[in-house]
Amino acid sequence: MEVACVRVEREQGEETRRRLAERDLVADELQITVEDGWLYVPVTDAGAVPDDLTVVEHDIAKRNTQDMPADLLGFEPTYERLGDIVILDEDDPDRAQRIADAIMESDLPVETVLNRASKVKGELRVRDWDVLAGNETEASGASRGSEDASSGTETVHREYGCEFLLDVAEVYFSPRLATERHRVAEQVESEERVFDMFAGVGPFVVPCAKRGADVVGVDLNERAVEYLRENARRNGVEDRVTAIQGDVGEVAPEYEDWADRVIMNLPHSADEFVDAAVTIAGDDCVLHYYDIQHEDDPFGPGEAVIRAAAEPEYEVEVETRHVVRSYAPHELNVCLDVRLTR
Ligand code: SAM
Repeated sequence: MEVACVRVEREQGEETRRRLAERDLVADELQITVEDGWLYVPVTDAGAVPDDLTVVEHDIAKRNTQDMPADLLGFEPTYERLGDIVILDEDDPDRAQRIADAIMESDLPVETVLNRASKVKGELRVRDWDVLAGNETEASGASRGSEDASSGTETVHREYGCEFLLDVAEVYFSPRLATERHRVAEQVESEERVFDMFAGVGPFVVPCAKRGADVVGVDLNERAVEYLRENARRNGVEDRVTAIQGDVGEVAPEYEDWADRVIMNLPHSADEFVDAAVTIAGDDCVLHYYDIQHEDDPFGPGEAVIRAAAEPEYEVEVETRHVVRSYAPHELNVCLDVRLTR
């Protein structure tokens, strides 16, 4: 299995492994491997590895000294990891409980196993969860911005060198969008003004601020904004982040003509907020417009709605038409990167 590894000379192996372990970056379930005088240490988050270390893809085996859930179950279960939480998407409650028990019994460093109990719903895009293993009491009473996440539904998630405290029972968050967020953050230049209209706990805001931008993040969800402030602080960018709780439609006039970049990650209803995005846009501004559409024409409806709102005041150029992921059969989650030039 090809995975991201830090490659070092054997002599520096132990020191490097210790440095990575201090940052919680060693992929414990995988085997550290020696080949041609090099040591390969598999890592959980390549983006978080200190800059002076070399990250490469390398063929690595699973450690056979550890019990993985599949060893205990006799089949490979499907699950996602978010910090010390494991997330299942199982319809059959008995099967879900068997998998949860095996995960807790395995050597994975897990505090809680949750099963999706609803789709994301409502304006706040939060879903219901069944707590299958872990501390249910803490799950319903998450700690408020504590230094380290307690068990339950609050956890610390790391991606591309940033860390995010969040409670999956109170806010929207998807680790599946990490690559997409990185794609956007990499386009940001120092001193830019970035406006995230639907900021959540800050997974776009924080990396953009880390690149030197001044960032405004708005969210309706009061708890998400509390986590956004906490996450700006944790990542050392609180001076460049303004977090606002409210309806972005109402906040937009306060930032008229302000932004070099606007992020619109509310895929089912971003079209309702394009006028607000145009209000916020400065003379030369890139919109990152997320949408969910049928595969037959995934980009057309978004482009039409942006042109209708921005032309003729702005020249509209679609710079990128990007498929983020498959969302449902025949439906795609896409992003349009659109430059508006006044
Ligand atoms: N950008 C974040 C991320 O990638 O994790 C969150 C995206 S989530 C799909 C959409 C967010 O928009 C939710 O946190 C929700 O509370 C927020 N939201 C929905 N309607 C809003 C509105 N009118 N104004 C501001 N935020 C809103």
